[in-house]
Amino acid sequence: METKQEIEEQKKYINKVKTENKNKNLKYTIITMGCQLNENDSEKLAGMIEQMGYNKVDSFKDADLCLFNTCCVRENAEDRLFGKLGELKRIKEQKGTIIAIGGCMMQEKQMVEKINSSYPFVDIVFGTHTLHKFPEDLYNSLQERNKVRDILDIDGKVYEGLPIKRTSNTQANVTIMYGCNNFCSFCIVPYVRGRERSRHPQDIIREIKELAQEGYKEITLLGQNVNSYLRVEKWKEKSLDWNGINSFATLLRAINQIDGIERIRFISPHPKDFTDDVIEAVRDCEKVCKLIHLPLQSGSTKMLKVMNRKYTKEQYLELVSKMQQKIPGVVFTTDIIVGFAGETEEDFEDTLDIVEKVRFEQVFMFIYSIREGTPGAKMENQIPDEIKHKRFDRLKELVESQVEENNQKYVGTVQKVLVEGKSKNNPNMLTGRTESNKVVVFEGDENLKDQIINLKIVSQHMWYLKGEII
Ligand code: SF4
Repeated sequence: METKQEIEEQKKYINKVKTENKNKNLKYTIITMGCQLNENDSEKLAGMIEQMGYNKVDSFKDADLCLFNTCCVRENAEDRLFGKLGELKRIKEQKGTIIAIGGCMMQEKQMVEKINSSYPFVDIVFGTHTLHKFPEDLYNSLQERNKVRDILDIDGKVYEGLPIKRTSNTQANVTIMYGCNNFCSFCIVPYVRGRERSRHPQDIIREIKELAQEGYKEITLLGQNVNSYLRVEKWKEKSLDWNGINSFATLLRAINQIDGIERIRFISPHPKDFTDDVIEAVRDCEKVCKLIHLPLQSGSTKMLKVMNRKYTKEQYLELVSKMQQKIPGVVFTTDIIVGFAGETEEDFEDTLDIVEKVRFEQVFMFIYSIREGTPGAKMENQIPDEIKHKRFDRLKELVESQVEENNQKYVGTVQKVLVEGKSKNNPNMLTGRTESNKVVVFEGDENLKDQIINLKIVSQHMWYLKGEII
């Protein structure tokens, strides 16, 4: 079946469930684990669920439908899921809550087997390639009170036209490509999200134009390997070129032209795909934030090879330096894995060396944990936990020692800040973010929410800057 037809089919199921649910005042909650791609998937699920007559609640205790959108990148997500399922069992016995689990973890056979054997009360299990079929799965579950297991082990397609319920009125995530072809040896994503496939430029531009009309100001383009957008399609020689868009760089340039959109971000690019045309597009497009997330993973060329990252320490540093020369004011954030199999003290010091040199605005640090089904899991030279933790603490110390210096450079400057609303820690203050994603806290009228305003930065603190309206 064509994807368009499939979505039309699902719309029929949305209407069927809506009719079933009429006047029942049903509630739903979604518990999302993992990355922004998963958050974007949850927004699509929420869009479908609300059209089926459910209203959102925060606590799963009050929900008639409780959905988990899982991630399998970190081990602790499993503990979190099973802990919550234990709690939900009792609630389900009392009020008949429908329990659904989707997302990456459900693409792992052993996880589905565990749910079937130890948590048989789970009603619906669906995978990353069957998200769009959730209305049908829910309908079947409601009708027959049967267990629905809907997982496809093939590469998914690209589905357009799903309803979406966004969590913000000003900042929107827009997934532009799915899957990954890189097979980094620590990562499960290519096995659970399938091979790379890109959305058609026309669909992306239409979505962003609609967002601009609705008042959205900031767009984050998402993809597991976002800067290889359209690469596979080009390999297949489909000669894809829609209104001049035939690459990630040309897509950035086209989005930059859309009136109403004021900020463009993208995650996560791969250093090996950060080609000159992308660097030039970032430089030329005034709306593209000059904060680049550039995942490093390790600073050791030997470890990068073991990780199958396809760049060396020197190439990474050259790329950073090239961007610093070409893009005025560019700053970086990164991801680092500590303690991957075979990492020696010398390798770890190479990582510290890069952190010293690049002075990242933020480092997302992870202690390596084995993911079954990846090449890393089969490597014999795993690092003892104690060493991993000690290295992690050393890296954390270095990163934190750089924060103050990094933040200090903002003091006295004027920054454009997108106001997000009241600060959670101090309701008398407002909070917002700079182009470089720094949190700024300041005094101001709540009407400023959702606007981009100029603030003078007057002081810096570990996790935020303090500003004043000028
Ligand atoms: S680039 Fe590597 S780390 Fe990123 S999703 Fe692909 S395989 Fe995983």
